[in-house]
Amino acid sequence: MRQLKCLIVGAGPVGLTLAKELHYFGITPRLIEKSAEPAKESRALALWSRTLEHLALRGEIDEFLAQGLKMTAIEAYSNGINLFKLDFGRLATPYPFALIVPQSQTEKILTAHLKKWGGVIERGVELRAYEMTDRGIEVVLWHHDTQQEEKQCVDYLFGCDGAHSLVRHSLNLNFQGSQEEETWILADVEVNGPLSRSTLSSFFSKKGAMAFIPLPDGQVRLFTSRGRIDDRPVSLEEFQTYVDEACPFKLTLSNPTWMSPFKINERVSNHYHVGRVVLLGDAAHVHSPAGGQGMNTGMQDAINLAWKVAEIEKGGREDILLSSYALERRHVGKEVVERAARMTHMIMMKNRLLIKLRNFVFPRLVKLPKIIKALTESMAEISIFYKQSPLVIRPKDHPGYPGTRLLEGLLDGVSLYSRCIVPQHTLLVFGGRETDHKVLLKNCPFPVNLVPVSSINLGLYQCYRVRVPTWILIRPDQYIAARGGISEMKSLKQYFREVTLDL
Ligand SMILES: Cc1cc2nc3c(=O)[nH]c(=O)nc-3n(C[C@H](O)[C@H](O)[C@H](O)COP(=O)(O)OP(=O)(O)OC[C@H]3O[C@@H](n4cnc5c(N)ncnc54)[C@H](O)[C@@H]3O)c2cc1C
Repeated sequence: MRQLKCLIVGAGPVGLTLAKELHYFGITPRLIEKSAEPAKESRALALWSRTLEHLALRGEIDEFLAQGLKMTAIEAYSNGINLFKLDFGRLATPYPFALIVPQSQTEKILTAHLKKWGGVIERGVELRAYEMTDRGIEVVLWHHDTQQEEKQCVDYLFGCDGAHSLVRHSLNLNFQGSQEEETWILADVEVNGPLSRSTLSSFFSKKGAMAFIPLPDGQVRLFTSRGRIDDRPVSLEEFQTYVDEACPFKLTLSNPTWMSPFKINERVSNHYHVGRVVLLGDAAHVHSPAGGQGMNTGMQDAINLAWKVAEIEKGGREDILLSSYALERRHVGKEVVERAARMTHMIMMKNRLLIKLRNFVFPRLVKLPKIIKALTESMAEISIFYKQSPLVIRPKDHPGYPGTRLLEGLLDGVSLYSRCIVPQHTLLVFGGRETDHKVLLKNCPFPVNLVPVSSINLGLYQCYRVRVPTWILIRPDQYIAARGGISEMKSLKQYFREVTLDL
């Protein structure tokens, strides 16, 4: 087996997650970052349920939970009247909340986990140019400390280099979308007043909207729009004026640690890979912070890709594995960008009639259980469903589960997740005899993690709607690949034919 040379550009949350995941699957990538020091700004705050589930499935959740603050609801007021409260408490996940952790802290924890795998960040090393040739991808790197150029040939180039990605620009891809015509401002400050510590509170007024997100260190993140293009620096006095206009009660701001103006772009790259050059995270999609999905979506891009690269290294079908990454994740990225844009436009409404309509309709809508479920599940990213992918086998008579995520439950008194912390496919086998298990394993072209589920585990039978002896194949990113009756091998064989050339 030839070892792939992988270069990751950018050690933000996405590059770090990709590096860590590749190590988990036995690949040692090179990770370069042009900044000499880690970023100090808090930037992205929310780690949503699906990202937390992934961290649990890698055995890495504890530090995040220890340092984060659980945000369990979102509420909105208009001119002092409560419009709605959207509660995450009923989400079917072990993590029914957004965990608020400043991005600088998230990157620190990810870096520590990467180190445990033997990974390093090469700081002060910048990608300056690259070219795809017959030999591979020829990259030109610049070492800031020695002021020396380095040339190298790699098999794979992963662009985790953020919104202004050089990797994307060099491919001349279309970054489809637009920029909102308003400057937004944010501040991390102390707030004196009656604000909840477990809820995102937003206040709509004639002038727009303002959001308050509690931070673990006792501060609060504030967002609002200036309502026009105006990129001057932000002052505490300006924010206090906006707060006084928007809030029905007195809130006094002090001790800002970060204040910044920013623009909102809503864009998705038209391709996620060209040959062996692959885009992930903000390099592939950017959008408004409304909903707090950017970093989560990027980290999940990395989780989706890493195991596929590992399969390619083992001789898997590169065309299918790479195109499935692009197909699955571009679909998610596009939806996230569109949803965040809808949310931003609803918040930014200026037309009086539309505001009245919003304030009348929205509170009624978010009382409907179906709407609450759809809204909260999409924010928590647990309703992601890879339905059109070569790596999800959904026979017509089995429209249900392949494409959805592994669900947590109790298996013989312990967590099912804890039985799936292995860098392999997992085969859940409900019922059947030992001989059936042996036949199933024979139909897998490489070792899989077999997890028998006996009939005493009623909760899991109900959760996966199993009525007859059944197998369920879980991909290493913990999405369901295929399922079938205990002696039906068609879908199992079809899935592995897509993954590997060895069949
Ligand atoms: C002001 C601000 C506020 C935000 N608030 C939120 C929020 O509340 N919620 C949310 O979800 N998201 C928010 N975001 C977005 C969130 O920060 C991003 O979605 C997330 O950082 C994306 O991670 P990434 O790893 O893809 O890119 P980045 O975090 O941008 O990391 C890219 C890395 O690549 C490095 N790099 C770039 N070019 C090169 C090169 N040529 N060679 C080597 N290294 C290179 C950069 O130095 C950087 O470290 C905010 C962003 C900003 C700027």
